[in-house]
Amino acid sequence: MTQQALIAGGGIGGLAAALATARAGWGVRLYERAPFFSEVGAGIQLGPNVVRVLHDWGLANGLARVAAFPRQLTVRSATSGDTLGRLRLGEAMAKRYGAPYATVHRADLHALLLDAVRQAGVTLRLNHTLSRFSQDANAVTVQSGDDPPVEAEVLVGADGLWSPVRQWLLGDGPPRSTGHLAYRALVRQSDLPQALRSTDVSAWLGPRLHVVQYPVHGGEWLNVVAIVHGEAPGDLDNWDRGTEAQDLLAALSGACVPLQNLVRAVPAWRLWALCDRPPMQGAYQHALGRVALLGDAAHPMRPYLAQGAGMAIEDAAELGRVLAQALDPALGVPTMLNRYALNRWQRNARVQARAIRNGEIFHADGLMRVGRDASLKLLGERLLDVPWLYGGP
Ligand SMILES: Cc1cc2nc3c(=O)[nH]c(=O)nc-3n(C[C@H](O)[C@H](O)[C@H](O)COP(=O)(O)OP(=O)(O)OC[C@H]3O[C@@H](n4cnc5c(N)ncnc54)[C@H](O)[C@@H]3O)c2cc1C
Repeated sequence: MTQQALIAGGGIGGLAAALATARAGWGVRLYERAPFFSEVGAGIQLGPNVVRVLHDWGLANGLARVAAFPRQLTVRSATSGDTLGRLRLGEAMAKRYGAPYATVHRADLHALLLDAVRQAGVTLRLNHTLSRFSQDANAVTVQSGDDPPVEAEVLVGADGLWSPVRQWLLGDGPPRSTGHLAYRALVRQSDLPQALRSTDVSAWLGPRLHVVQYPVHGGEWLNVVAIVHGEAPGDLDNWDRGTEAQDLLAALSGACVPLQNLVRAVPAWRLWALCDRPPMQGAYQHALGRVALLGDAAHPMRPYLAQGAGMAIEDAAELGRVLAQALDPALGVPTMLNRYALNRWQRNARVQARAIRNGEIFHADGLMRVGRDASLKLLGERLLDVPWLYGGP
């Protein structure tokens, strides 16, 4: 009989896990608590390490239809507008790492994965909140609402930043607030003045803030993310641009005119309070017995290396690899999930730590800022490229 895996969460990580697990020959049932699948209206950058996985899953054509493939990343000073450094993406990166650097609307990536998951025969259970699980040597049993308990060989907690599965497994409390706020927006390039349209990635670095822009949806839209230091306002759901965008403009009062013009040209913003966890401490935080954590449930990170979803997709690829081997009864599920944990935790911890460090560098002031700008001007691509990340795992 086919071995059965249960997946909690239908975000990018959960769908990637479902696809990899089904491709490994398992029966998969995915529970998503929301009544329908959705992703926030925002963009996502995918390094070549991530695009390579999507290509391996046969999604190259689908990705090419919806993504943009910027030719370069330009790092600028938010205050003077000067170019500090450049990293060639496009062909140069495809040559070096075997896949291009892509930027994509999250809903487009989610739809691409969802389509593949459906074709792979995964059972999708919307409006199903996983409310409990237990495990013993032979099986894991989950409960969702009033439904009868369901048994399987594996449970994957891909249930995000506030992961209930993590709490049942590790009981290590909620994630921490970073004291950083992210303002995110999408704007049609055709609605922008010519000077503000862009086919490349730009990162503007300023004291205690940075702004990133890149094209998505085949280049039709521009995604803009501004990160500033600050406390989250009380009611994030009812956040109103009319008042709060003033806070962003106030934070950018010392910024150069082109950056201020970009922010003013954006018609609507959404606000996020950023949370993370400290870098993973060991394999025990990734899997225990028949339960594995994946994506933000395992290693929520600051978005300053643009790899949170990327690491979820890498996790999924590794999960698929070990679960294919776990079909051999001599190896067994707990042993193979332990291998998954051993193979993933250090890389995830390294990315989490590097993301924290990037934030400190991006938002530097004073002497550190002078040193950063000088180093970027001198070393440019050598500082901006990340071979251990883009060439891995
Ligand atoms: C400002 C910002 C910019 C970012 N930029 C990038 C980027 O450029 N590149 C990149 O790779 N990453 C980026 N990230 C990170 C990325 O968004 C996340 O790492 C990724 O979306 C996490 O996916 P996930 O599937 O693990 O979690 P989620 O997307 O949170 O999905 C979890 C799902 O689980 C469901 N769920 C929760 N509890 C239950 C339950 N009990 N039962 C059933 N379902 C449940 C939820 O409804 C949700 O659908 C960024 C993040 C932010 C905040």
